[in-house]
Amino acid sequence: MSRTLVIDGIRVPGEHYVGGRRVDSAAGFEVRSPLDWSAPLGWVARGDRVTADLALNAATQAFPGWAALGPKGRAPYLERLAAAIDAHTDAIARVECIDAGLLQESLRLRLVPRGARNFRAYAELASAYQERHWSSNGTSNTVIRMGAGPAVIITPWNAPFMLSTWKVAPALAAGNTVILKPAEWSPLSASLLADLAHEAGFPPGVFNVVQGIGEEVGAALVADERVRRISFTGSPETARHIGRAAASSIVPFTAELGGKGPLLVFADADLEAAARKAAGQYDDSGQVCLAGTRLLVEESVAAAFLERFHAFADRQVMGDSRDPRTTMAPLIHPEHLARVAGFVERARAGGDRIVRGGRIHREGGLWYEPTLIEPRDNQAEVVQREIFGPVLTFQTFRDEAQAIELANSTRYGLSGILYTGSAARADRVGRALRAGVVWANCFLIRDLTAPFGGVGYSGIGREGGDYALDFHSDLKSLQVLEGTVR
Ligand code: NAD
Repeated sequence: MSRTLVIDGIRVPGEHYVGGRRVDSAAGFEVRSPLDWSAPLGWVARGDRVTADLALNAATQAFPGWAALGPKGRAPYLERLAAAIDAHTDAIARVECIDAGLLQESLRLRLVPRGARNFRAYAELASAYQERHWSSNGTSNTVIRMGAGPAVIITPWNAPFMLSTWKVAPALAAGNTVILKPAEWSPLSASLLADLAHEAGFPPGVFNVVQGIGEEVGAALVADERVRRISFTGSPETARHIGRAAASSIVPFTAELGGKGPLLVFADADLEAAARKAAGQYDDSGQVCLAGTRLLVEESVAAAFLERFHAFADRQVMGDSRDPRTTMAPLIHPEHLARVAGFVERARAGGDRIVRGGRIHREGGLWYEPTLIEPRDNQAEVVQREIFGPVLTFQTFRDEAQAIELANSTRYGLSGILYTGSAARADRVGRALRAGVVWANCFLIRDLTAPFGGVGYSGIGREGGDYALDFHSDLKSLQVLEGTVR
């Protein structure tokens, strides 16, 4: 059985990439496209303990040489990788569109270029680090930032290429060697990233990709004591397993987890803009951790808001993600479609009001209609749990205090979105929201140097900018007794 998949005419190796070469496993797992579930795209190597061991051998051996290069010595590799991504944007977008179902235009224009920017930004940021020197208590002091060792990076299926590069870039820039384990539901762009790293001339073992099932090779990787950092994005359930492994090896880990973000609309807001953005939460079929899935609208403008919201939601087009007219991609997998449908069925049965949608769009396809639910109360399951599909809830509030109380009433705390015409309110409510990132009158605009992460059930630690470099580094302070050396 060939391990090479041919996706839209592009060859994608299905093997692991370890120690600078392709390595296979005896077993494989099937890959299907959410755009057409009828036949497999091919089979990808299903890693096991032996694969994890091989990858850790390679990453451990490569670490001293990579770390010794220093940030400025490593930067050209990251920059060459960024250039290689730019040169292959179209191919990456076409493969990821078919593998993960994401809209091809959005991949080409936004997500893949952001992957290249991640590498450039970290080449620059790591190189700009200034060691601290000072004199005190008769000693000269220096703070030194060192790479920590092999880092295991585990990513989810929903924006695989962009999310992987966001995590791989700071690890490599900080001097760590990397083993990337992409999600088994969308494993292909990681394999392309390995090809590009190879083309960019990374020394063997510095960047490795291991394919396979989370509970198998993922669990084997995080349990190995040679791992010195674990960076994870995915669900809170998996984070618990990984956290236990990290605790056992005493290794720092970051966890970027799910969200249940509020989207607050105050009466003084530009209702048109707020409604457009609210209906935009259906983009990517709601498979976005940062999405504002709980619409919270001030009572006095609820009717006017809803009228506009429905007009925008009516314009959403479910269809083939390769077609530029499509705005809503399919859900990733039949299991996930069933999970999303299950939430809505339980809501219906429990007495929540389905205001729009609430159905699978097309027999045989993986699209679910853009759905709006008025919950019977704030404890309803659809309000409290992440659905990760095109399902929003609608609630009203009387005043700012109640808006904040409702917004902060889930155990998640990843993102918050608010619409208001008042600068003072944007600042006040922005500070009051229990969330790692808040947008006022916009969404998803990010400076790569800003911290990123969640509070509560949405995660541990911060990525982005120097925060990610700090996470991936060991800091050392060196004291030399003055007057004893020349
Ligand atoms: P998941 O937790 O099921 O899987 C994520 C990754 O973990 C996959 O690569 C999987 O193979 C691996 N894995 C599973 N079990 C493992 C184990 N025991 N040991 C090691 N690895 C294991 O998550 P998912 O369903 O792929 O992704 C969806 C979730 O990710 C949602 O909750 C979403 O909100 C979250 N997410 C968060 C962010 C963020 O930045 N906060 C971004 C995107 C997605």
